[in-house]
Amino acid sequence: MFQRRQWQVNDSRKGSLARSYSWIALLGLVLLTSCAAAPGNPAPAYSPPTSVSSSVTLARPSMPAAVEFDLLERNQTAPALLRRAFLALELHRPQEALDDAGEVLYGPKKPSANEEAFARFLRAEAFAQQGMPERGQYDRERAAVLTLDLQLRQRLQSAIPIPPEQPRAIADVDLVVTDRSDWNAKTPRRKNMDPMGSISRLTIHHSAMFLRDTRPSACAAQIQRIQMDHMQTRGYGDIGYHYLIDPSGRIWEGRDLQWQGAHASGDHNVGNIGICLLGNFMPGRKGHKPSQLQVTAMERLVAQLLRRHQLGANDIYCHSHFKNTECPGELMEPVVAQLIRNMQRKGVTGVAAAAADH
Ligand SMILES: [Zn+2]
Repeated sequence: MFQRRQWQVNDSRKGSLARSYSWIALLGLVLLTSCAAAPGNPAPAYSPPTSVSSSVTLARPSMPAAVEFDLLERNQTAPALLRRAFLALELHRPQEALDDAGEVLYGPKKPSANEEAFARFLRAEAFAQQGMPERGQYDRERAAVLTLDLQLRQRLQSAIPIPPEQPRAIADVDLVVTDRSDWNAKTPRRKNMDPMGSISRLTIHHSAMFLRDTRPSACAAQIQRIQMDHMQTRGYGDIGYHYLIDPSGRIWEGRDLQWQGAHASGDHNVGNIGICLLGNFMPGRKGHKPSQLQVTAMERLVAQLLRRHQLGANDIYCHSHFKNTECPGELMEPVVAQLIRNMQRKGVTGVAAAAADH
């Protein structure tokens, strides 16, 4: 009997303790709720961005950057990916910025000109954060060409150093092009090729094979190797490029211009002249810079093609514009960017070509 009472006492004491704890918990809950509802502390509502502009994509985050970055994790729209790339830069995680910008540039959905401009700007910033600003130079140039966003334009202008030297004069003469027979080209398989149609752009590549030998036989051998790879391994109808330029500045005829090339993958080949500079323009042991003679020959060839096909400076591309590739190499991209800038200064706009299209 006595023992039983004892238990009852204990039980009732437990009950009152439990009641006190629930009161404390309830009080805490009331306090928390009132804090969250107080006008000074609005609950953090977040809606992902649906447009791309400086004031949206590059806005200072209103919450910790890492929190917003995580909130966007599963969102694969261009506005969200570009915002994530910006936040990754804020967090000093340039590789993630490169990945997100790359997804916009090379993902399944083709970016608009505005989206591409922001993706390229963010990519250039990411390269700069990685200590390789020269790798982003082409992206910067391209973004400056594409963007209509005033703030982005200003950011890009302040970042591009205007080189003091005047563009070199580019000779306005017909160029000598070494014939296909001089490198013993194989006969093309015409059924594997499409007609070129109207020409609207040109793209610069490197062969990604070391070459500093200027002897015609050595250069011809490399071109044959490329043709062999394109026809036998990849099943193309002919060598994929329309022109090849060796380290001595000799220009070689590749695929006849009446046929569409095979160098920029899929539809990117439509109306696109492929120019390949022989050599591997990557830094490091197996790479080297393009020779000055080779660069000069490229400039002359490009100038002639732009004139002949009524194209403008903005119709010049690097392979890396169309695909996530190193081509035409880290040491070559700034050279192409400079060429585009020189052409822009000379006022080569391609307006005539645009007018002719309509
Ligand atoms: Zn290429």
